[in-house]
Amino acid sequence: MTDVIIIGAGPGGIFSAYELVKLNPGMKITVLEAGNPLDKRKCPIDGEKIKSCVGCKPCSIMNGFGGAGAFSDGKYNITNQFGGTLYEYIGKNRAIDLMKYVDEINLKHGGEGTKLYSTANSDIKKLCLQNGLHLLDASVRHLGTDINYVVLENIYNELKDQVEFKFNMPVSKVEKLENGYRAITEKGEVFEGEKCIISAGRSGSKWMETVCKDLAIPTKSNRVDIGVRVELPAEVFSHLTDELYESKIIYRTEKYGDLVRTFCMNPKGAVVNENTNGIVTVNGHSYEDPAKQTENTNFALLVAKHFSAPFKDSNGYGESIARLSNMLGGGVIVQRFGDLIAGKRSTESRIQEAFITPTLAATPGDLSLVMPKRILDGIIEMIYKLDKIAPGTANVDTLLYGVEVKFYNMEVEIDENLETPHKGLFIIGDCSGITHSLSHASASGVHVARYIAGEK
Ligand SMILES: Cc1cc2nc3c(=O)[nH]c(=O)nc-3n(C[C@H](O)[C@H](O)[C@H](O)COP(=O)(O)OP(=O)(O)OC[C@H]3O[C@@H](n4cnc5c(N)ncnc54)[C@H](O)[C@@H]3O)c2cc1C
Repeated sequence: MTDVIIIGAGPGGIFSAYELVKLNPGMKITVLEAGNPLDKRKCPIDGEKIKSCVGCKPCSIMNGFGGAGAFSDGKYNITNQFGGTLYEYIGKNRAIDLMKYVDEINLKHGGEGTKLYSTANSDIKKLCLQNGLHLLDASVRHLGTDINYVVLENIYNELKDQVEFKFNMPVSKVEKLENGYRAITEKGEVFEGEKCIISAGRSGSKWMETVCKDLAIPTKSNRVDIGVRVELPAEVFSHLTDELYESKIIYRTEKYGDLVRTFCMNPKGAVVNENTNGIVTVNGHSYEDPAKQTENTNFALLVAKHFSAPFKDSNGYGESIARLSNMLGGGVIVQRFGDLIAGKRSTESRIQEAFITPTLAATPGDLSLVMPKRILDGIIEMIYKLDKIAPGTANVDTLLYGVEVKFYNMEVEIDENLETPHKGLFIIGDCSGITHSLSHASASGVHVARYIAGEK
């Protein structure tokens, strides 16, 4: 029987372990992680021999030390305006304080020297408002994929002698005991702990549903975000990205009154495949190291959909749309904006003739055969609006990759300590449905650790 079992070694699990060890050095902590240690996480896609996802188990992009964030762009957004609703549980000031604390830890472990961007006093806010767009407030620490890896490596090296890490240990069942919890792995190993923190992320979403069912933890359906990833020459957005790095801009469409937003902006970055439960969608990242940068900037344009009755499965809706794009394109589809507006599919030759080189080898096709009209109309409207603040966005050659889907876990019932109705069982990070970002997931880990260590 250990003191605390942590399920999942993503940012939520790592920061729980980090803070527990710091506040209570003698505490016995076991981390059970479905994926590999950081140095064994290798996605086989090399762009030459293996061009698309071959469905490895565990997936090195989503699973392993560092979680889904390990090869991410490492953008830590310090804000309550997006990235989750942690503040609704723990309060706005505390949420911001914890995000700043996480930032300090990252800086101490290799992130020093990276840039903190801020929307405060930015003229871009005014420019957006003048054009019917809204810029959300945030400070953004951009670690970059390379430095993010170094930070994770350093944190692991510091923790590995004080915390028992068990890799390749997917937990299949969590049982409640009289004085704690039992985690049983797929291979049948059994671990028992007085307290249990579950931080299984988005990749653990289906498994979380079974845990909640088994332990009768109430859940609520959440939203799904559907859209495309836009790729254009970096110069078009450079006045925004040089000053803010990432700008979160929201637009209310005139036609339907839907909200379309920019998401995950990657200056001089690359568009990548993402595999969620066997469905290939699109994402993006960028490096801090200039040698690894590209000539393009990419970002997503997303529309949120939330179904509640009679159909409740928002994620299922998103999955079906992504499956359709996989069926037509064998994976991700790419289309030039000009082709979409002209009602033509993009072809290999049209993509090659374009004045922009795609950073992802996707199948040229027609996104209007995949995306629901209402969503696509909203995205097109927003591209024309963005063209006003960043002329060139609506160019014929701007590339749209689809589909990008952001799946959200169902929201689980937890209190202000992120504790379930079962005393000593905590659900944190993205698998709780209340965080969807590195900073919020990490902050939720610190919050729970401080509560467990009796130091609220
Ligand atoms: C390509 C990509 C880029 C991203 N870029 C950014 C970004 O720049 N900024 C940002 O804020 N967010 C970004 N995100 C989102 C961010 O990575 C997540 O919000 C964050 O990692 C959530 O942390 P977490 O600890 O809750 O879950 P995760 O990071 O998903 O970690 C959960 C861990 O639990 C493990 N696990 C799951 N089920 C089990 C089980 N049954 N037993 C044992 N282990 C299990 C998984 O293997 C995984 O390692 C990105 C995501 C992706 C995929």
